[in-house]
Amino acid sequence: MIIGVTGGIASGKSTVARAFAALGVPWVDADDVAREVVAPDEPALAEIAERFGRQVLQEDGSLNRRALRDIVFAEPSERLWLESVTHPRIRQRIVAHLERLQAEGAPYVLLVSPLLFESGQNEMVDRCLVIDVPEELQFARTAARDDVDDKQARAIVAAQMPRKERLARADDVLDNSGSEQDLAARVTELDRCYREMATNR
Ligand code: ADP
Repeated sequence: MIIGVTGGIASGKSTVARAFAALGVPWVDADDVAREVVAPDEPALAEIAERFGRQVLQEDGSLNRRALRDIVFAEPSERLWLESVTHPRIRQRIVAHLERLQAEGAPYVLLVSPLLFESGQNEMVDRCLVIDVPEELQFARTAARDDVDDKQARAIVAAQMPRKERLARADDVLDNSGSEQDLAARVTELDRCYREMATNR
């Protein structure tokens, strides 16, 4: 059984993943996999370099993310091309990682993805768990963690999927507006449900 975990910036996805891990439930991070598929020596990086030239590479041959981001931000058709190169590989590799974890005996596994719904990765999972916090708290936690001010935090949140839409697509919701102890208690409760579901499948 695969549980997709998502939420807006600083909603608490990583914190939740660590709390599940403490109970013996491993996770795959979709952002890490997205970085893996464009690492040096990966075929996707060669394709990207062939299309856009040296300008998207660093001196050492690794991807210059900022340069690539600028190109695809300015040109939606190039973004689609990039996604056609990276998305199938990301998907394949996520499946491989998840299968390995299940083969190693995990009771169930998590796919943690900030863009679970936007990327269609929700179709790879059995249930979607949305981590939810009121926006004011999201701004504050973003500004406290990252090197951004309140205004920048608000702009980042405004560019993401609206909270209401994300909640409408959730199977389960974890309200992370309380303390980290509250979060751990809710994770324990969800873990109990998920283990039971995984056993009864
Ligand atoms: P995400 O992975 O969704 O971006 P994080 O798990 O990194 O979010 O959490 C964002 C920030 O908020 C981190 O600095 C984290 O320590 C803090 N945080 C998360 N949950 C809580 C909580 N319940 N109480 C206080 N701080 C929290």
